[in-house]
Amino acid sequence: MAPGKTAPRLLQDLLTYDPCREDRAGRNLLTSAPPEYTPSRNGIPAVPRGNCRHALVRKEEQSLLPVAGDNHGPVYKVASYCPQCRWHIDVIVEFKDQDSSSQICGRQSDYPLHHFVYDSDNKKEINGLGAQQAPRTFSFHCTAPACPTSVRIDLRPPRFTEHDQELMMNKAQLRRRFERARELIGEREGETMSRSVDGPDFLDTFLRDSLNPAPGKTRVPLLNRKFAKTFWRDCDSILTKLGFEYTLEENEEENGPDVEAWHLPRPGEQQDVFQSTLRTTVQDARYELNTMILAVPENERQNVRHQPMYPVPSQGDIEMVLACHDYEKVAGRTRSTSTTEEDHPHFASLGAVGDFADTLIHFAYQRQSIVDKVNAPYYLECFQEIANGRNSESLQFEVAMITSKDIPNRRELEAAYRSIGLDPAHGPTFSDRFIIDQARSRLPDISPTQRDELRRNLQLIGNSRESEEIRREAMEDIDTYEEALSWLELDQSQADDFVRTMFTIKTQDNPSSIEIARRAVSIIAEHRNSDRLRQFLLEGTMTEPERDLSEAYALFEISSMSDRQNVDLSVLQSSMLVAPPSDIAKLEKAFTLIQQDQLQNYNNKEERPKESGSRVNDFPLETWPVGCRNNGNTCYLNSVLQFLFTIKPLRDLVLNFETYEQDPSPEALKNKKVGRAVVTPERVATAQNFVRELQRLFQLMIRAPTDNVLPTKHLAELALCKTDSVETEAKAADAENQDHKDSPNGTGAALIKEGEPAVATNDTVMGEGDGTKNDDVKSDGSAQATEEHSESNDKPSPPTRPPPIPPRPKAQEQAKSKDEHIAESARQQDAAEVMGNILDLISCAIKGEGLLRDGEQADLIKDIFFSDVTIVRNTTNKIEKTQELRNHHLISAGGRDRHLYAALDDDFGQSEMEGGDSKYEYIAHPAPIQIVNVRRLQFNREKKQQVRDTAQLSLDDVLYLDRYLEATNTLSGDELLHLRQAQWAKQQELQRLAVRCKELQVTEIEGLNLADAVEETAKLTESFFAGIEQQMLDPLPAPPPEELPENLHERAKVLKGELEEIDASMTQLESDIDTVFKEYHDHGYRLHAIFVHRGGTGSGHYLIYIKDFQNNTWREYNDETVRPYSEQDIFRLGPGALAAGSTGIVFVKENRTDMLTEAVCRQPDAAAAETTMNETEHKDVEMTDLPASKTEYDGLEVIEGIEKA
Ligand SMILES: [Zn+2]
Ligand SMILES: [Zn+2]
Repeated sequence: MAPGKTAPRLLQDLLTYDPCREDRAGRNLLTSAPPEYTPSRNGIPAVPRGNCRHALVRKEEQSLLPVAGDNHGPVYKVASYCPQCRWHIDVIVEFKDQDSSSQICGRQSDYPLHHFVYDSDNKKEINGLGAQQAPRTFSFHCTAPACPTSVRIDLRPPRFTEHDQELMMNKAQLRRRFERARELIGEREGETMSRSVDGPDFLDTFLRDSLNPAPGKTRVPLLNRKFAKTFWRDCDSILTKLGFEYTLEENEEENGPDVEAWHLPRPGEQQDVFQSTLRTTVQDARYELNTMILAVPENERQNVRHQPMYPVPSQGDIEMVLACHDYEKVAGRTRSTSTTEEDHPHFASLGAVGDFADTLIHFAYQRQSIVDKVNAPYYLECFQEIANGRNSESLQFEVAMITSKDIPNRRELEAAYRSIGLDPAHGPTFSDRFIIDQARSRLPDISPTQRDELRRNLQLIGNSRESEEIRREAMEDIDTYEEALSWLELDQSQADDFVRTMFTIKTQDNPSSIEIARRAVSIIAEHRNSDRLRQFLLEGTMTEPERDLSEAYALFEISSMSDRQNVDLSVLQSSMLVAPPSDIAKLEKAFTLIQQDQLQNYNNKEERPKESGSRVNDFPLETWPVGCRNNGNTCYLNSVLQFLFTIKPLRDLVLNFETYEQDPSPEALKNKKVGRAVVTPERVATAQNFVRELQRLFQLMIRAPTDNVLPTKHLAELALCKTDSVETEAKAADAENQDHKDSPNGTGAALIKEGEPAVATNDTVMGEGDGTKNDDVKSDGSAQATEEHSESNDKPSPPTRPPPIPPRPKAQEQAKSKDEHIAESARQQDAAEVMGNILDLISCAIKGEGLLRDGEQADLIKDIFFSDVTIVRNTTNKIEKTQELRNHHLISAGGRDRHLYAALDDDFGQSEMEGGDSKYEYIAHPAPIQIVNVRRLQFNREKKQQVRDTAQLSLDDVLYLDRYLEATNTLSGDELLHLRQAQWAKQQELQRLAVRCKELQVTEIEGLNLADAVEETAKLTESFFAGIEQQMLDPLPAPPPEELPENLHERAKVLKGELEEIDASMTQLESDIDTVFKEYHDHGYRLHAIFVHRGGTGSGHYLIYIKDFQNNTWREYNDETVRPYSEQDIFRLGPGALAAGSTGIVFVKENRTDMLTEAVCRQPDAAAAETTMNETEHKDVEMTDLPASKTEYDGLEVIEGIEKA
């Protein structure tokens, strides 16, 4: 569980939480825990400057407060208003399901204060534009076991916007109204214009009257002199919002013009303070008008009708309902509530405040470490620091009690992790087993003193994780083979079976020693490399005794001992392939024995190609790219890494990262934006970690003295985790499931999940009847942008991603092993998304070279991968354009075989949207590298599951982007648009056919189209008449008519014909569409890489095919295996074709291929053999002497796109 806050802390945070400035704080001050305190963060204020420090006052008529003597609900509400920011803030406390066992926290209880954890908010509904001004609701509940208290905090924005205020009070506007009123109603001697204060004052009077209706005071004629010169019709929106009703009334004078009038709002009686009604709206408005009026200098508001209201502060009420009005405070220190002074972050981390009495500090520490176990060492550190800071004997005593149990604080725990070579930041993600193995691997190389030290550290880790297994490991003394043998009273010559016997004897004597006995056997099993002992540990049984080794060799016709020295295991393996099937099992067993013997006695490892350092490919090392071994569940990561390696400027950037490195200080990051989000120092740190890790991998890919390398898990972790912290990642994944949207701009990384139903169903050709294809996916983003254009110019664009959240790298959930963690991240994403993520990470890690639109960082990554795309929307009366940077185009496979152009035409072409609007897109500035991602997963609504779309997308060696551009060398923008319009007309017909085609294709019966299904029915009916079924079924009440089968056959034929016909017409139309642009070939892009998925929806394997332009050859990269691939096969169609599994297709600008790509970059170096990267060493690996020389790419004119010839 996440950490919580005691009631006083929650209140203090509420008083500084400013929803308008949440983005600036980088976190929600109310619901999230503060970042862990580190001295380096010192000086960064916890509350951003400029936040409103609310001075809440009570809204009496909307509150439900405890009466004297009763303070247990069932529910209370303190309705408050802040005259500074004019927000309305309600605190609602509920005691749910109270019964006799309930115990509400409070001074008299065992739990002196509530300790609240955050449950949920309503943010999901209000992302996007205006989120800062949207109402917010946050829920919390108390963590004390028997406490039924929950708290809801509602924050509502002012009823009057800044704009409203301006409308009413701006002097220039008032003057205009004054002049207009004079024109319309006539001049009057000595009359002056309205004062700023008059609008709010009149409005307040109207509202007061509306709350206490009196005859003759229910309407205001528009031509009322005062009304006209103060409001005229300019303020209609304000009046309407407040419940005023506009009417046209017949003139009492005959034939006079109709009278325009406003009727005052008619709020009903308030039944219940929890309801939001017109009455509450009016009340709220009056509080705000009160504030506005009182803000006018006194001499400018003489003679107003308004009676000033001075509501009482409500903080005491809130303290009362949160049961923290009387908590015990430390002597000699008072907490100041209104100044900008802050408690030391240690207090905030414990969910405490600075004036807590010692006992409450202890209480807060206990609650926090119970509720958020993972971070308990950090809370201990906070507790210690406070105890020392206060120099409090009682607290120091409590600290001593804890530390005497060998429970570590954060510093000690981090030191402990480091002492066994682990990065403490990932501590919670390691499994116990992994930690133990890691510690064991260190034992053989260290002195006895160091060994004791290591055990002590392990003990600390075990205590902190409450892991019995680790604690035991720390206490026991069996580390070596010899110790294991001696514990079991064995000697080296005794066989595995005897090991088992001794195990049984020992554990029968003393059942509590079973774990250590298992440990001893496990050490022996590893030392002897005995699968039988391993099996025994795992299953409690052992297979039959080992076949005699010489018998095993004899089966392969190896008889003499000397022959055993030169066994070529691959020869043995191939002889197994040709052996009679009846012998195979026997031979395999023998082979395993020989393999083991070879490894142990002859150090012959050649049979294990997956071990690092061995060869799997047959090509000269310096001419061939290295393969990447699979790291577990990171199926597509290798493809992405291989692809990135071939992009020469990117590779050089990574290899020379030091020259590009971003200064991570907060000042340097002030204006840095990547993916439209502000970049935090933590994010930069993660990103730089990633790039350094990638640098090591690239160096290894260049210099490895073998033909395959293993990317570290650390790299996978950094590449796959979208944010810095496990916690936010889980939340983000959650949020995406809720309302996953195609990111409207490509800089938001390729936020497309293939497995996402909401996206997958939006496919033109498969059109779920709405025919809007991607529009509803994108419309949300574009609509925002549009509103922005038409409405206001000074608002910043809303971020398309939630603001980065400061790191809490320690897992909040139960600890997962690193592997599980990576696997999970991998499942939630796909290659496209990871690629986007990596590009963003690199941008975060490097310095910018200037700013692009919206403050986005300009850099090499943007230069080579991001195209500038314009979306044109035609609405009834205007044309709107929005622009966005995209690192890829997303298309649908589309359910039927077609050319890539046809799919791209769908994406860029004109499409209808709701309300008769339409839109299309063009590329204003194409990047030199174009990535096209293919959506291959469809969500089948009938089956409620993902279906893989294996339609074949055919490709050519060159893709011409001409038709998708704004203009080309030969076509002006208008000419191009004209051609496209001709194309769209045909496309509309195509879409109509697609809908019909889909109807014919889809039936309830898997694998049958409608025609087939009807045909099957016909056959069934026939057999029914033939009497076969008759004996098996109960007689039908009415047998089907005899002519039915024939009719059905006939119908099936017709349907089949129709389907074929439609398919043919569609193909013809597509080809026609293509012809429109046949001759325009100015902007060619060469095919460079194809990402391919093989296998089903839930499983399968990713490969990548990459063109080596320098050697004019294609290769297939299948994890560690890299082999040549024929160009013919790249473009081949038919069963098993790449075209059916392509998930990503990459093109590179013609004539630039050599500058932008280089598939082979090798300098094998035997000295580098030492630096095989493995999990434990990744920190230590250091490669010097970079082989690659830095190349300048600054000359790339790519964001300009169309080259200047
Ligand atoms: Zn305020
Ligand atoms: Zn409580």
